[in-house]
Amino acid sequence: MVNRCINNIQFALFPPRCLLCGGRGDGPRDLCHACADALPCIGNACPVCALPLPSSAGGAACGRCRGRPPFAATRAAYLYAPPLDRLVQELKFAGRLGHARLLGELLVAHLEAVGTPPPEMVIPVPLHPRRLRMRGYNQARELARPVARWLDAPLCAHAARRLRDTAAQSGLDAAARRRNVRGAFEVDAGVAGRRVALVDDVVTTGNTVTELARELVAAGAERVEVWCLARAPGP
Ligand SMILES: [Zn+2]
Ligand SMILES: [Zn+2]
Repeated sequence: MVNRCINNIQFALFPPRCLLCGGRGDGPRDLCHACADALPCIGNACPVCALPLPSSAGGAACGRCRGRPPFAATRAAYLYAPPLDRLVQELKFAGRLGHARLLGELLVAHLEAVGTPPPEMVIPVPLHPRRLRMRGYNQARELARPVARWLDAPLCAHAARRLRDTAAQSGLDAAARRRNVRGAFEVDAGVAGRRVALVDDVVTTGNTVTELARELVAAGAERVEVWCLARAPGP
């Protein structure tokens, strides 16, 4: 009751504003109707890694996923493209942590639309401690926090650690990108027998989440899904 009163007062004093155009938000959302309609949807995609594919591919997996990746599915809410990419970059590089509420809500809406069963552990892709100190926060964790809360699933932010501060993936060829993340993570034994959702803001090549999922499976995780707000259209 008290919470509802506080929410009503907050709503009256600070009505939600669309983070993209600055207009009035749609209900309690920080996004208006028109901007929500303009978000870049993924059409046909690989059912395992969410890589966008031509519609002629039907529901078939992409070439890479026919080699049995360590995760069962990738749930990507949108394509990594304008205007959504601006919000992701502001969350990641400009300290706009308030964006995580809307972006988490968009991811949850997608998860509910596809009917994903709730996991037993929600694990954000970790940053290396040095990178975390420089940035001050992990954007994947900021995104995972509201997602775990809405789904009533445990957020296990310390169940995975990044051991190496891997070089940026851009500018490397495919083989170098895979080598770049090899052995980059360690995970807790507590993941054994659990259904895990790995959360990241954007999946680009998929090498990072593949490597972390491989460690989780090696530690005995029963099932791993990758959840991301946005999927890049290609490596
Ligand atoms: Zn708007
Ligand atoms: Zn695939």
